Amino acid sequence: MDSKPVLQVKDLKVQFATRHGLIKAVDGVTFDLHRGESLGIVGESGSGKSMTSLAVMRLVPPPNGRIVAGEIFLNGENLLKKSNSEMRDIRGGKIAMIFQDPMSSLNPAFTIGNQVGEAVALHQHLRGNELRKKVINALSLVKIPAPETRVKSFPHQMSGGMRQRVVGAIALSCEPEVLIADEPTTSLDVTVQAQYLRLLKEIQEEKQVAIILITHDLGIVARLCHRVAVMYAGRIVEIGSTEQIFDKPSHPYTIALLRSTPKLEGVSRLDSIEGEPPDPSNLPDGCRFAPRCKWAKDKCREAYPPRVQISDGHWADCWFAGDLK
Ligand code: ATP
Ligand code: MG
Repeated sequence: MDSKPVLQVKDLKVQFATRHGLIKAVDGVTFDLHRGESLGIVGESGSGKSMTSLAVMRLVPPPNGRIVAGEIFLNGENLLKKSNSEMRDIRGGKIAMIFQDPMSSLNPAFTIGNQVGEAVALHQHLRGNELRKKVINALSLVKIPAPETRVKSFPHQMSGGMRQRVVGAIALSCEPEVLIADEPTTSLDVTVQAQYLRLLKEIQEEKQVAIILITHDLGIVARLCHRVAVMYAGRIVEIGSTEQIFDKPSHPYTIALLRSTPKLEGVSRLDSIEGEPPDPSNLPDGCRFAPRCKWAKDKCREAYPPRVQISDGHWADCWFAGDLK
């Protein structure tokens, strides 16, 4: 693995000013990502997964949402110091994103050839035959059958799985260094989902693109990701290699998450842990998981735990990490 990360996120904080107070959506997130690596981000709804990735794209929704602290480096350059026009070049260029719903990412009024072509033309300044070739390559890369004729199709003439491949083709057409996929398969049925994920993995191995995959599904993480970051209430509470996280989960939330995951492939949803996550506009001083944690002691409720190293590259924010029975 390359020693210098492609992406480094340091102590990132994203907040929303609302009538009900300040919402701490992301509250001190730190991680890095290397070339050819895939990092899974898992965690309950509202834990800050999407806001972390939108912050990397500098797409936190205005006017209420704001990146209030932290640093984001792409190949050593701080993205938070870039102008809006520099960011427009980076988005869809060096960093690309695949969203959950392919229909909302595609324009129903244009052919898919047009839409993939637009992305390529914007970032690579190609025209005519060269542009056409690049578009067909992009569609072939995501294994869309008969791409020469498919370029003339409109989104509604394709299945959901094929549409999501088109979105993938748009994202990958500019050969991004970082690809962020936020729940890319939730709208697909299980078989199509599995095919799409296999495809993503193949492309990643071939192109060595670094991937951030956001999902509720630990089964997907196990199949696709080298490393896992577990988010809870705006923070990464545990991070490590996929083996480390699955073999020796060390934060009580991760342990609960793994226990609440049915073993059946494809249906593993993470929604059966008792209790509720804290209100993001009124976070407790201590460990944010303490109210739901069966191991919690007074100390846990009083102060946020230190980041404890479990083994090389494996960390958990817990006063008793490594010592839970
Ligand atoms: P999910 O799994 O449901 O997609 P998530 O982990 O992606 O959840 P985020 O979308 O990152 O969660 O949201 C993090 C927090 O930010 C949540 O508490 C959410 O309510 C809050 N939030 C998101 N968008 C806004 C907004 N436009 N205004 C106010 N708060 C927001
Ligand atoms: Mg989300």
